[in-house]
Amino acid sequence: MTSTTATRAEAGSRTPGIHISLAGATKDYGLARPAVADVDLEIASGEFVSLLGPSGSGKTTTLNLISGLETLTRGTVSFDGTDVSDVPAHRRNLGMLFQSYALFPHMTVAQNIAYPLRERKVGRAEIRRKVAEVLGLVQLEGRDDNLPKQLSGGQQQRVALARAIVFGPGALLLDEPLGALDKNLRGALQTELRRIHREVGSTFVFVTHDQEEAMTMSDRIVLFHEGGVEQVGSPRDLYEAPDTLFAARFLGEANTLEVEGDPASGTVTHRGVSWAVPAGVVSPEVARRPVSTLHVVVRPEAVQVGTGEVPAGRAGVELRVRDVEYVGHFVRVLGNGPGGEPLTAKLPAGASPVAAGDRVTFSWDGADQRLVPA
Ligand code: ADP
Ligand code: MG
Repeated sequence: MTSTTATRAEAGSRTPGIHISLAGATKDYGLARPAVADVDLEIASGEFVSLLGPSGSGKTTTLNLISGLETLTRGTVSFDGTDVSDVPAHRRNLGMLFQSYALFPHMTVAQNIAYPLRERKVGRAEIRRKVAEVLGLVQLEGRDDNLPKQLSGGQQQRVALARAIVFGPGALLLDEPLGALDKNLRGALQTELRRIHREVGSTFVFVTHDQEEAMTMSDRIVLFHEGGVEQVGSPRDLYEAPDTLFAARFLGEANTLEVEGDPASGTVTHRGVSWAVPAGVVSPEVARRPVSTLHVVVRPEAVQVGTGEVPAGRAGVELRVRDVEYVGHFVRVLGNGPGGEPLTAKLPAGASPVAAGDRVTFSWDGADQRLVPA
C-alpha cells in the first residue's frame, strides 16, 4: 500500500466535522406561527448535539434548514463560517439518516452503501475498500450480498447509517433514526451511534423527542419549544439548572410550586410558607424578562421525607402521604402540597418507611431547588 492510499484511508474514516451556525434562522409557512423562529445556534466541529422537544416544536424543520431540504424565510446557515443558505442540499456534503431506512430494495447491502460513492465517481477499488470499512464500523461484515429484506429492522438501519457516512460527510444529520425500533434494540443502537461518532469524528445533529435518549447520547442538548430554542446546555445543565418551567418539566420528573416574592429578597412564599432562595438557584430568565408567575422546581430525588416540622435551614412543606409506590431500587412517596399540587419524593428502597395517610414534611436543601418563570 502506498503512503498516499494510507493518508486517504485515514481522511476517509476521520473527517473533521463541520462547525454549523444558525443566525436568526426562521421558516414561516404562513401559518399561525412560524415553524421555526429566530433560531441562533452554534454547533462545534465534532460535537454530538441533540435537538430535543415535543412533536411540532420545530426540530425537523431546523434540521432541514441545516441540510438544505428546506429554504430559509429569514436568517442564515453557515458551515465553517461560510454562508451556505443558497447552497443546494446535495452540495452540502452531509449524511442523513431518517426513521424510515429508505434503502433501495433491489440493491444488495454493498450496492446500497456504494451508491453515494458511485454518484461521486469514486473508483471501483476505492469503493470496495470503503464499503468494507464501513461494514466493519456498523458490524455487518459478511452481509455484503444480502438484500435489505433479508435483514432485521435494526440491521437495515445500520446499512442506512453506513450509506450515510461512507463518503466522509462533514456532518451527519439524524431525524429520530431509532424511532421505529423496539426498546432493547434502541438502547443497543444508541450505544453504537455514540461509538461510531467517536470513531468518525464528524459533527452529529440528532433529533429526538425522547428526553432520556437525548440525555444519554448528547454532548449538548438544544431544547425546542413552539418553534424556538428554549434552552441549550449539557444534559446535566438542563436537568439540574432548567431556566424555565417548560425545561424543568420536559427533562425528567419535577415538583413545581407556584411562589410569590421578590427573588432579590432571597425569600419566596408558597401559601403562607416561606423559605430562602439562594441567588445561585434563580434562573437568569427571571432577571431577563418580566415574570408574572414564579415557580420553585425540585427534583423528586432531592426531597427528604420526615416527621415534625421542616428542619431549620431547609425549604419544605407539610403534607399527608397519598400513596407509596415500590419501584424496586427506590420508592416513590406521593402527596399533595398546600395548594393541592401533586408532589413526589423518590427515596432509596431502604429508607425509613412511610405509609399512605401519614402526616410528613417534604423538605429540600435550598441549593437543590430552582426558581424559574412559567
Ligand atoms: P418536530 O420535528 O419538532 O415535530 P416540525 O419541524 O416538523 O416539528 O414542525 C414544526 C411546525 O411546523 C409544526 O407546527 C408543523 O405542523 C409545521 N410544519 C412543518 N412542516 C410543514 C410544511 N411543510 N408545511 C406547513 N407546515 C409545516
Ligand atoms: Mg420531526
